[in-house]
Amino acid sequence: MAEKRKRYLLSEDDIPRKWYNIQADMPNKPLPPLNPGTRRPMEAKDLYPVFACECCDQEMNQTDRWIEIPGEVREKYKYYRSTPLVRAYGLEEALGTPAHIYFKNESVSPMGSHKLNSAIPQAYYCKKEGVTNVTTETGAGQWGASLAYAASLFGLDAAVYQVKISYEQKPYRRSIMQTFGAQVTPSPSMSTRAGKDILTANPNCQGSLGTAISEAVELARTTPNCKYALGSVLNHVSLHQTVIGLEAEKQMEMAGEYPDMVIACFGGGSNFGGIAFPFMRHKIKGEEGKSHTRFIAAEPASCPKLTRGEFRYDFGDEAGYTPLLPMFTLGHKFAPANIHAGGLRYHGAGSIVSQLMKDGLMEAVDIPQLETFEAGCLFARAEGIIPAPESCHAIAATIREARRCKETGEEKVILFNLSGHGLIDMASYDKYLAGDLVNYELSDEALRKSLGKE
Ligand SMILES: *Cc1c(COP(=O)(O)O)cnc(C)c1O
Repeated sequence: MAEKRKRYLLSEDDIPRKWYNIQADMPNKPLPPLNPGTRRPMEAKDLYPVFACECCDQEMNQTDRWIEIPGEVREKYKYYRSTPLVRAYGLEEALGTPAHIYFKNESVSPMGSHKLNSAIPQAYYCKKEGVTNVTTETGAGQWGASLAYAASLFGLDAAVYQVKISYEQKPYRRSIMQTFGAQVTPSPSMSTRAGKDILTANPNCQGSLGTAISEAVELARTTPNCKYALGSVLNHVSLHQTVIGLEAEKQMEMAGEYPDMVIACFGGGSNFGGIAFPFMRHKIKGEEGKSHTRFIAAEPASCPKLTRGEFRYDFGDEAGYTPLLPMFTLGHKFAPANIHAGGLRYHGAGSIVSQLMKDGLMEAVDIPQLETFEAGCLFARAEGIIPAPESCHAIAATIREARRCKETGEEKVILFNLSGHGLIDMASYDKYLAGDLVNYELSDEALRKSLGKE
């Protein structure tokens, strides 16, 4: 009988010592962020008042291919890394596909997702620069929980603005953040100018990521020794996430295979970049046997910025406080439908991924909500892990490709990233199982409107 499950793990010594900076190798570099007032390109130092300085330098670094992982960060990575690469024999059998399916299991991190890979270095750099407080926003709570834990590892105080509606409806992630000692405030709040203005105008405001970002950035700007941290979209975040792909590359070598396809779900692009960029460097260089790999980002049909958005400069937040970033976007005023993959509702894509998309180095698919939960349930039964609703998009895209292999008889090697588990998202599974979920396709009319075309 064939083996039912095989896990590949690295020794501590083989955990990466450097992150991979794809900007150094890109044929066309990402365009710079612009100051929204002057429309002039911004430099790293323009971002120093908000983010850890080291992160600002990494953000703009287009020359150094490899960036040293600080020893203290690598020590913390060892708490849960390497993460397993798993050959999904169970899923292959359930699909009857000749494809070889592998997944990188980032759900084994203490917070249950890949987000800790960037929360740890961001907290570390703050600590090193003498910062005592970090702040951020969170929607569903995955990023807030990761930053709260990372802050506690380095003795920093964390203040998290959680979108009011999730604060009330998703109490468990709030309690996770509070367990790690973070101060969690429902946003909009009376603690900032931005929050007060919004509440004065509309006392019943339920909040949005845009508002929460504005509050956190205001706190960072007005509090001494306080910096802001972001969990996706920005270049330095995907840089930190490349530990995923660098490990996976070594683990695929142990398995004696090289991926024909690399697939990840797509919110702002950090877990996609994390698994894809290390493999993509071989494609950019045109290396023999490694140039054919397809890189596929899987996004929700209800938030399809890569498949149906426009490439242009846009704000990172709803309110228009951030620098202008070059991105595939649905428009910064885009209001996502009430879908159940909290991490995939962002209106835009990171600027590296947007450039790679423009240059044809990667592709994207958009997937209806019901198909993602169907895929998640199939995966759960076959592999014994309940995937996060976000990760279900990667699984659904993988299943589409594996079924195609079944039709053509091709033995392709597919690698996907399992970005997180869904054990705190069972309310969404409950709704799916009860038949209460529906598909939300973005209409052309709504798209034109959010892009400001009518
Ligand atoms: C936040 C999150 C995502 C989406 O963010 P990216 O930056 O696109 O990776 C995906 N999966 C999980 C489990 C998340 O928590």
